[in-house]
Amino acid sequence: MFHHDSPEEAAFRTEVRTWLEANLPATLRGRTNRPPPAELMPWYRMLSRKGWIAPHWPKEHGGMGASLNEQIVMTEELARVGAPQLPAQGLNHIGPILIEFGTEAQKAKHLPPIIAGDVIWAQGYSEPGAGSDLASLATRATLDGDRFVVGGQKIWTTWGHHSDWMFALARTDPQAQPRQAGISFLLLDLHSPGVRVRPIRTIAGDDEFAEVFFDDVAVPAQNLVGKLNDGWRIANALLGHERLGTSNPQFALIALERIKTMARASGVMADPAFRDRLAAASINVTALLALFNHAVELTNRQRGLGPDSSIIKIFGSELLQSLNDLLIEAAGSEASMENPVPTAFGAVDVSTSFLQVRRATIYGGSSEIQRNIIARRVLNLPQ
Ligand SMILES: Cc1cc2nc3c(=O)[nH]c(=O)nc-3n(C[C@H](O)[C@H](O)[C@H](O)COP(=O)(O)OP(=O)(O)OC[C@H]3O[C@@H](n4cnc5c(N)ncnc54)[C@H](O)[C@@H]3O)c2cc1C
Repeated sequence: MFHHDSPEEAAFRTEVRTWLEANLPATLRGRTNRPPPAELMPWYRMLSRKGWIAPHWPKEHGGMGASLNEQIVMTEELARVGAPQLPAQGLNHIGPILIEFGTEAQKAKHLPPIIAGDVIWAQGYSEPGAGSDLASLATRATLDGDRFVVGGQKIWTTWGHHSDWMFALARTDPQAQPRQAGISFLLLDLHSPGVRVRPIRTIAGDDEFAEVFFDDVAVPAQNLVGKLNDGWRIANALLGHERLGTSNPQFALIALERIKTMARASGVMADPAFRDRLAAASINVTALLALFNHAVELTNRQRGLGPDSSIIKIFGSELLQSLNDLLIEAAGSEASMENPVPTAFGAVDVSTSFLQVRRATIYGGSSEIQRNIIARRVLNLPQ
């Protein structure tokens, strides 16, 4: 949108577009909810075999080592064909964290299966009594010789019931003050004895997340990432990646395409007042793209994002919700239907889509918490 492709980028765009058109199954295009693993993982593995599953990872770890512009080309082209949302915990969260903080043994064991799509990861941060106030988490890991013994519960674990491994925060020093100083970052095999997982259904009707219970689960000491009681620093580095990843403009671009297709199908596009709102929405999506590109560039240059990730999280998630409000307008009388509305861009499930994006201002830290961070760290307001 801001950038004219160089001849090499234009050739790459053509290659990506042609390949996606030929290979992305029609049943996976324009899906509102994330498809279950049996449908989604074959597609993940196809992208992996093509070498395109991790554009942002360095080549030495199996990524594409793509330039910023190549990453943008991928994002735009995936949005163009309505590609489904991939599981992010491995590719966007624990992968980059292990590249930065992991031991050589941890990298060798865990990175290749993420790239190949052989192992699915879950994030074990939130607990029933610890969401926004994450530092009050109560899951304990007690060091006993060469292993930790883990007890407690996690909740809202995305794909917890489909996952093989979890990166989890656990309290390793209950007496430490401040509380953040007693937390460690562990890699936990979810197939271990003592792990119990129960799926939770969302208002959008998908089994997107789960509760995970630990009953004296043995975790080898070498599964500690970073130093003992230094998990908070790693947890926050990961949240920066998460806030950036959840604001990926791919979802806003897909939403914009859906609105246009739906408005043409319903006839609402003929209304000049609607077209004004559509123009405003397009400008906001362009602004998100600019913000995201800037953030990716800072990340690629190893410059920490800091509170920038909170600004982009608020803008990206609230924009996604306002786009879905516009989708309802675009659908006109079809909006109230529970069944997907067929359009040239695939079937659009307007009401599910509206419900689905409610979560965007909650996960990765709610909008209120992001505003608190900006108030404290950018504006220096009193607490
Ligand atoms: C779809 C989805 C997927 C998720 N996936 C995962 C996952 O994979 N792994 C994981 O660990 N967690 C996950 N989460 C959990 C998510 O991180 C938490 O829901 C989030 O951090 C909020 O915590 P909470 O739900 O406990 O709400 P609470 O912390 O109880 O907050 C309730 C309300 O109070 C507000 N509030 C709380 N404290 C303050 C304050 N100090 N100032 C102003 N307002 C405040 C909040 O903004 C919110 O509106 C997921 C959540 C969703 C919705």
